Amino acid sequence: MGFQNEKEYLVYKQSVSDFLWKEVDPLVPQMEETNHIPKDVLFPKFREKGLFGLIIPEEYGGMGLNTVQYLPILAELSKVSGAIRALIHVHLTSARAIVVFGREEQKKELLPKIATGELSVAFAITEANSGTGLDCKTTAVRKGDDFILNGEKHLITNADFTKLFMVACYTGPRDLGRKAMSAILVDLDTPGFTNDPMPHIMGCKGLGHGILIFKDCVVPAMNIVGEEGQGLEVFLGELEASRVFVAASSLGTAERALELSLDYAKKRVTFGKPIASRESIRSLLADMAMDIYGLKLMLEDVARKIDEGKPCPLEASIAKTHGLEMVCRVTDKAMLVHGGRSYLQSWPIERLFREARLNVLEEGTPSIQRMVTARALLSGQLPWALPW
Ligand SMILES: Cc1cc2nc3c(=O)[nH]c(=O)nc-3n(C[C@H](O)[C@H](O)[C@H](O)COP(=O)(O)OP(=O)(O)OC[C@H]3O[C@@H](n4cnc5c(N)ncnc54)[C@H](O)[C@@H]3O)c2cc1C
Repeated sequence: MGFQNEKEYLVYKQSVSDFLWKEVDPLVPQMEETNHIPKDVLFPKFREKGLFGLIIPEEYGGMGLNTVQYLPILAELSKVSGAIRALIHVHLTSARAIVVFGREEQKKELLPKIATGELSVAFAITEANSGTGLDCKTTAVRKGDDFILNGEKHLITNADFTKLFMVACYTGPRDLGRKAMSAILVDLDTPGFTNDPMPHIMGCKGLGHGILIFKDCVVPAMNIVGEEGQGLEVFLGELEASRVFVAASSLGTAERALELSLDYAKKRVTFGKPIASRESIRSLLADMAMDIYGLKLMLEDVARKIDEGKPCPLEASIAKTHGLEMVCRVTDKAMLVHGGRSYLQSWPIERLFREARLNVLEEGTPSIQRMVTARALLSGQLPWALPW
């Protein structure tokens, strides 16, 4: 399915928003309490709405949204439930790596199933005993038409239901650095592959994480995504867009926190006046709006650049860092506006505060983002935005 024009897209966007508020929002308290996403209830509806295939091209059965169209839907998901947002985000970010780097036969085989949610792919980069990227300890040694995979990954989102994992590993000598790293798809049923659940997380309740262990797993060489030795490119390319997707999630959470704060400030009366009439509260609200507006403009710029095929790692890192820091500031301020009630689990601000903190850790900490930003600046790049 695709959209003939902007109006059709807007109708679709509204229908997704209506669906999220009518059918997902009422389930959020139950998800918070039970640490469980009712997938049997929700997945058929996500499929019907096209959520599993939002950014998968139409020719492979997806909705074919571009980045400019996808970000507002991601932000809306974030407003309703951080857990559902993260579930869809990981599913689609991994799918996007196959769209961009996969071989044609891989795309034809996998993407139509991913677009309906019949199959999900998770990405597995992080390791408990090494740093992210070139410090990776997982190895895959070539043996005929196969690779023999050994290593461990942890904190892997969606591991509770995913069947296919895109694993970062060395397929060549470590001293070759990035040229020796590959991304390989590993099926859960592969002998020697174990997937153990991890403890519940602070926010985004119901989202599942796994520890993956590979012991002499025989993986067909044709499961490499893109080319052998292209792994870092696959993951960095995936992460560049993904950082923008995480920033859009920060935007949604922050916008919801502001909406709730505006509403509360008008209703809460102390000493005979709504707190919205107090300078201190007005100042908090104004600060929140300034922060949100800044991110929204950054996202408009970087989304357009991605859709135009312009490399923008600098802008993506800046948007991600600004997003994660601003959503923490905004949810802090929303708590101040709400006073003591914000600390009660029955109030959505408490949940948004916890959900916002995931954005800080997802796909590169603020220090790593600043490192990427400074490296690009010192090599002569500047984040010039919309033409002046
Ligand atoms: C809820 C959740 C879901 C996640 N989902 C996934 C997933 O689906 N797939 C996946 O692969 N990963 C996933 N992760 C992992 C996440 O991407 C990492 O936690 C994050 O990138 C940080 O890596 P780390 O935990 O290994 O921290 P560390 O690398 O141990 O970093 C700890 C601190 O040290 C700093 N640091 C580390 N190395 C350096 C250095 N060389 N120079 C300067 N500072 C440094 C970091 O910035 C950080 O502040 C998830 C994490 C969480 C919390």
